Amino acid sequence: MPDLPLEKQKLFQKCVEFHGHLCPGLAFGLQAALAGMEFLSEAQALDEELVAIVETDACGTDAIQFT
Ligand SMILES: [Zn+2]
Repeated sequence: MPDLPLEKQKLFQKCVEFHGHLCPGLAFGLQAALAGMEFLSEAQALDEELVAIVETDACGTDAIQFT
């Protein structure tokens, strides 16, 4: 993971530990989660909690759940 900033590397490592293995789906899920959070953060009130509804049980779901 040499191209990722250290903060993202640590987050990805925690996702791998949560998920149980490293796989492309997990990396994709992390990128989707971070992009979604960035997109929605401007419209989110400080006391609001984001909830994701993910219509798959593929590996990327764990990254979205963890992030
Ligand atoms: Zn996986």
